[in-house]
Amino acid sequence: MTLFEKIIARQIPSKIVAESDDWLAFHDISPQAPVHVLVVPKKVIPRVGEATPEDESLLGKLLLATQEVAKALGISNTGFRVVINHGRDGGETVPHLHIHVLGGRPLGWPPG
Ligand code: AMP
Repeated sequence: MTLFEKIIARQIPSKIVAESDDWLAFHDISPQAPVHVLVVPKKVIPRVGEATPEDESLLGKLLLATQEVAKALGISNTGFRVVINHGRDGGETVPHLHIHVLGGRPLGWPPG
């Protein structure tokens, strides 16, 4: 099981923000901003570049989930960033697709 499958299965604790049949949103253990939440599909897709056309609807739901998280945590109006890291140069460390939702402070651009 991936680390995030274990979190989804409640084998590893997490601070859950929201959940649906398709995804779980929980606070990142090492937050890089006042709000830093991960939205993770319950179906294991290792990384965004390995999603298939079959995943089209699920990918849309994940993006809409970021909107729900931002509203729930009060950063919808001030702004937020969604990030997906793919592979070595992208900075991916957990091989289970996840979307970072970051906000609560001005975020620099471009990212490092
Ligand atoms: P990435 O580097 O894009 O693969 O992101 C993986 C993220 O998972 C990092 O931001 C980590 O801080 C986060 N992370 C690792 N372990 C946990 C955990 N047990 N609970 C919550 N977030 C975690």
